[in-house]
Amino acid sequence: MQQAQKDKLTSTMAIVTAGVYDFLPCPDCYKKPDVHEMKVTLDGKAKIKKIPSYSCNCYQKKLDARESQQRQQRINDNFKNSMMSEAFKTAYFNKYQTCNFPQNKQVCIDYYKNFKPNTRAGLLLIGSPGTGKTELLACITNNLIKDDYVCIFADYQELIDRSFDDKSILNRLNGADFVVIDDFGRHDVTKDFYNDFAFKLINTLYRNNKNIGITINPDILRELKQVSKNNAVIDRLYEMCKTVLRFDGTSYRRE
Ligand SMILES: [Zn+2]
Repeated sequence: MQQAQKDKLTSTMAIVTAGVYDFLPCPDCYKKPDVHEMKVTLDGKAKIKKIPSYSCNCYQKKLDARESQQRQQRINDNFKNSMMSEAFKTAYFNKYQTCNFPQNKQVCIDYYKNFKPNTRAGLLLIGSPGTGKTELLACITNNLIKDDYVCIFADYQELIDRSFDDKSILNRLNGADFVVIDDFGRHDVTKDFYNDFAFKLINTLYRNNKNIGITINPDILRELKQVSKNNAVIDRLYEMCKTVLRFDGTSYRRE
């Protein structure tokens, strides 16, 4: 018999004679595996291969634990990067003062429950300061982040300020699943620079099919509409925000 043939035979015998103790027990519960035999063909010859099978689910549990740890880390990072102001970090529907606009609250709860990213389904909340519209969008945002969505909750003024030295800010918005712009349009409408910024902001979200939540003061909306240059941005807003909620009641937050 040639050496190569001998080697082959030896290795086959090693596989065939491998007993249950050749396989290591589970490192976590020390249970030994069941061993199954499988017929395989190697180099045209039928051989028996032994395969261990662990009846415990220690390995799967470890994988699951690692996955949930990574998810929690991601959610923490999303909260950190969301630009959510300190005052609204704890905003949730169950704490929202329902007395003023229970219907608007229900619409926002339904929006959250049926949320699908990149569908360009937006919300436009029109009302004076202190009517609770920002808080409602914060409730949606906090819930979505908890569900592992990437959200940005930006104050419009802050966006303008940041855009001067952070050219990537609009890209960051486009990377999110849900983008809130609070107090949209509060700028000097006699200056083209700001009107252009407003259009660039909304248009880039529009082109990327982003889901947005916008709050706007009715006086500001009226001012914007008075400048014909802003027609395009107003059109885009209404096109993206098929749901328009009005907050016409009296303010409960004193300012
Ligand atoms: Zn185990």
